[in-house]
Amino acid sequence: VVAMRQVHKSFGPLKVLDGVSFEVARGEVTVLIGRSGSGKSTALRCIDRFESIDGGEIEVCGRRVDDAGLDLRALRLDVGIVFQSYNLFPHLTIEENITLAPHAVKGVPKAEARALAAKVLAQVGLEEKLHAYPEQLSGGQQQRAAIARSLAMQPKVMLFDEVTSALDPELTGEVLKVIEALAADGMTMVMVTHEMGFARGIADQVVFMHKGKVHEAGPADILSLPSTPELAQFVGTGL
Ligand code: ATP
Ligand code: MG
Repeated sequence: VVAMRQVHKSFGPLKVLDGVSFEVARGEVTVLIGRSGSGKSTALRCIDRFESIDGGEIEVCGRRVDDAGLDLRALRLDVGIVFQSYNLFPHLTIEENITLAPHAVKGVPKAEARALAAKVLAQVGLEEKLHAYPEQLSGGQQQRAAIARSLAMQPKVMLFDEVTSALDPELTGEVLKVIEALAADGMTMVMVTHEMGFARGIADQVVFMHKGKVHEAGPADILSLPSTPELAQFVGTGL
């Protein structure tokens, strides 16, 4: 569903992605790990074309993302992305936050969009917060609402960039549970996380990035039995 092939990306003189390749199969969970600055967020953002690339190829749902003639709207309908900061619209209720894009972007009729909002909120365990405003929700609940908002667009692939790193440990668990349920449901996902225990449990594939390269990749076992000193050090220190 997602394939990166020899992707290069620089910001000015800084080479951030240096020939990155990995593939994500339908229904699988790929976890991107690596030190701060290793290029994880940049790699993720390239998949949704929030960043353009300097070389290589990216294919998402049968579409070349690096193609100049890319249908950006179609790509963004297929790929949902959730960041560390939830970015809910503060002046809209949770229901309004969720129905906005399906209605405005996809033309889903209002009543249908509201039914969809109820459904995705139930999926993240927030059905009672339909008419609440974001500020009335805890951080974990806001993040779950942000995930629900993304789900309402019925994406084929979900990207998560450190969605729990702004949360207290007890709130982290509830968000990870939602992601776990999505994975069990067969959603194709690429996630950046520092939660190693979680990664071990959920990942079909772990991609360890180091200095802009995929330094080591494989099943979740590589977290327990790393074959490079860099990954051993990374999982050892957890930094
Ligand atoms: P973290 O774990 O801290 O989130 P990361 O692995 O996600 O790190 P990236 O955000 O991909 O790292 O950044 C990789 C490098 O690219 C960093 O050195 C960062 O400063 C730089 N960088 C990222 N975005 C930009 C930008 N828009 N302009 C210039 N430099 C950037
Ligand atoms: Mg990052």
